[in-house]
Amino acid sequence: MSVPAAFDYHPATSVDEAIALLQQYGDEAKLLAGGHSLLPTMKLRLAQPGHLIDLGRIGGLSYIREDGGVVAVGAMTRYVDIERSEVLKKHFALLPEGVAQIGDAQVRNRGTIGGSIAHSDPAADTPGIVLALKADIVAKGPNGVRTIKADDFFMDLFQTALQPDEVITEIRFPKPPVHTGSAYMKLANKASHYAVVGCAAVVTLDGNGTCTTASVVITGASVKPTRASAVEAGLVGKKLDEATIANAASHAADGLEVVSDIHGSQEYRAQMATVLARRVVARAAERA
Ligand SMILES: Cc1cc2nc3c(=O)[nH]c(=O)nc-3n(C[C@H](O)[C@H](O)[C@H](O)COP(=O)(O)OP(=O)(O)OC[C@H]3O[C@@H](n4cnc5c(N)ncnc54)[C@H](O)[C@@H]3O)c2cc1C
Repeated sequence: MSVPAAFDYHPATSVDEAIALLQQYGDEAKLLAGGHSLLPTMKLRLAQPGHLIDLGRIGGLSYIREDGGVVAVGAMTRYVDIERSEVLKKHFALLPEGVAQIGDAQVRNRGTIGGSIAHSDPAADTPGIVLALKADIVAKGPNGVRTIKADDFFMDLFQTALQPDEVITEIRFPKPPVHTGSAYMKLANKASHYAVVGCAAVVTLDGNGTCTTASVVITGASVKPTRASAVEAGLVGKKLDEATIANAASHAADGLEVVSDIHGSQEYRAQMATVLARRVVARAAERA
């Protein structure tokens, strides 16, 4: 089936109007951002919303700006703008680096950061990167604005902490201290480029080259992007030489409920998580 079921189209002109429409139509309504996850599911009739609320005509939701110790990215900012942002390249190499690996140019020209994290596909790239960067997700609903830490946001398969009548408006990335490096790599599905397994890492070193903080996230291998706490624990307080990184990375799948499907068995994904964690942490350390 390549044609979606019939729906009413509502071009919202403000976030408040979008929230009011979400409240009015309840379960029947869906927000539309870049449409690159929603429209395929509608065409397959896995989703049949009766009302589409388009965020694309709301001004002021697409931006990348420095705000004191934070870089704020508007929810409707497209991948292509993230990929090209000098501010993001300077502070968070893995964000433009990861986004550049998403799908193809058409997907990156339309897909938005807010849509990606709201959708929370377990094989998507952005959710794991947002988690590794310990970003804050700003959402507006009928009761006002709230900020959700990335660590509390991704809850389960396609499930986030977002309420049905909330709209993500901004993602806030805390600027890292000096001597911080980051990297992202994935084993990509050859057709879609979604991550069969991906790893995002951020490490900070002190003046002597000792790791003071580490944030390592595995994506694609499980139902949601997951912090690799055992890898992080194996890095902090140590000099990041090859043996230390390899030893820490060998714990990449610890505690992870690794999935198995036609793209990779449980064992293969667990092994790839280890391989990618080793490479990504090494690259992040080189950049620190
Ligand atoms: C061929 C193809 C290849 C792809 N390859 C990859 C890949 O390699 N890696 C990858 O990560 N992704 C990939 N994607 C998915 C792509 O990244 C999507 O664009 C993204 O997942 C969704 O963003 P969107 O702006 O298109 O959101 P939409 O599809 O418009 O919306 C997705 C969901 O989020 C909700 N939503 C949207 N915006 C908001 C908001 N501001 N607040 C609250 N809810 C909101 C919508 O209601 C909907 O439920 C691919 C897609 C295609 C079609």
